[in-house]
Amino acid sequence: MKKLGCMLLVLLFVWFIPQTGHAAAVNSKIVLDGKELKAGQNTQVENVNGTVMVPLRMIAENLGYKVGWNQQSKTITIEQEGKIVRLAVNQTAASVDDKTLILTEAPVLRTDTTLVPIRFIGEQFGLTVNWDNTAKIVDLITPEIPADNGGAGTGEATPSEETTSNLALVNGLSFNENRLSIAISGNTDPAVSKITGPNRIVIDLPNTTFSDLFGTGQLLSPDLNGSLAVTGHPDVSGVRYSLYNTSPYTVRFVIDLNSAKNYNVNISGDDSSRLIVIDLNAANPADTTTQPGNSGRKQVVLDAGHGAKDSGAVGVTGKYEKNVNLAIVLKAAALLKQENNIDVVLTRSDDTFLELKERAAIANNLQADLFISVHSNSGSTAASGTETYYQRESSKAFAAVMHKYLVQATGLSDRGVRYGNFHVIRETKMPAVLLEIGYLSNKKDEALLFTEELQNKVAASMVKGIKEYLGLK
Ligand SMILES: [Zn+2]
Repeated sequence: MKKLGCMLLVLLFVWFIPQTGHAAAVNSKIVLDGKELKAGQNTQVENVNGTVMVPLRMIAENLGYKVGWNQQSKTITIEQEGKIVRLAVNQTAASVDDKTLILTEAPVLRTDTTLVPIRFIGEQFGLTVNWDNTAKIVDLITPEIPADNGGAGTGEATPSEETTSNLALVNGLSFNENRLSIAISGNTDPAVSKITGPNRIVIDLPNTTFSDLFGTGQLLSPDLNGSLAVTGHPDVSGVRYSLYNTSPYTVRFVIDLNSAKNYNVNISGDDSSRLIVIDLNAANPADTTTQPGNSGRKQVVLDAGHGAKDSGAVGVTGKYEKNVNLAIVLKAAALLKQENNIDVVLTRSDDTFLELKERAAIANNLQADLFISVHSNSGSTAASGTETYYQRESSKAFAAVMHKYLVQATGLSDRGVRYGNFHVIRETKMPAVLLEIGYLSNKKDEALLFTEELQNKVAASMVKGIKEYLGLK
């Protein structure tokens, strides 16, 4: 670890299948209260990642709203009956009176006009906006005006209760270690269900849509569906997702299974960044050997620090910390799997990136008995030796036992059991330690850490420490 820095790096979610956003010009009709609008020769309606965008001019000419355009700041104001909506080109933040809202798509400049998201604008002013994707019709319905003639219309044309502006947004997803992780902003209450014939798990996120970021990181078709290829997980054949409904807005994920699986749902984070994890490592009724708490088996979570684009410390000869951390964890896991009373769970078993909170959530979600994060240090070229960190008082005794065996294994100088305010050992709920095996900035330490022999010794020492602390023979 590069001191605190590498643990505190704020890194983006893993993006699969990088792809540019979709924008498609469509031959669309715009219909206001049943009458097709004459939108002019050059009018172009675009479907951008599923958000229907119309020329600003159309808003002014047909809906009678007062439209202002500031060429310099590229900002738009739309005013009607004292309500003011402010938008800016290429910005998803919008304001309605004093409230800031997030658009699913930012206004964009085209040759002779600015395109704006019609649903958002219409809904701010009480219009009901429907998009018929088959016929390519934007259907705008003005609110019913109480009239002397006994009312008009069908009576169903009430303004939509829901606007896209208050929705939670799906920003990304990943599948690894038998867990589907969905990153969102905002809040939603997932409805998760298990379905047979064929076996699958369905996750519905109500009041949620895809963010404009989503289409840049994952495959998303213009009609807002896509899939994630899953390999190396025998239980899972794939993950699909779509904007399942727009009334109310619902994003659906489906995990297609090769056999029936149980799951746990864990939600962490806050409105700015929330993570929903569907964990298929949950106890399977047919598989009592991995059932936590069953016949006194203990669950140990091993966490190989860093991964993928986060290399961790870079050694004096250019070797990556993430690789030695993983090698040691895999060796320790192989040894722990031979133990009758221990179930081992890895936060990562390959070169995958996980956020720190995901690592802690995995252990907390499982209500694991112990958590061990494996790192390698970096400092001056002279610094050398082995350290074990704890953060909570309740982890101190575990740290002492682990350190005793770890120092014997490395044979490097004993730099002691230390307090360290690291996320993964702070946010976990069970005794948790972070091991710094040696210093990759030191030539001797680096060479040693990358030997199989040292890695095997460290792995064996971890097993000794775990068993001693748990009181297992
Ligand atoms: Zn590290």
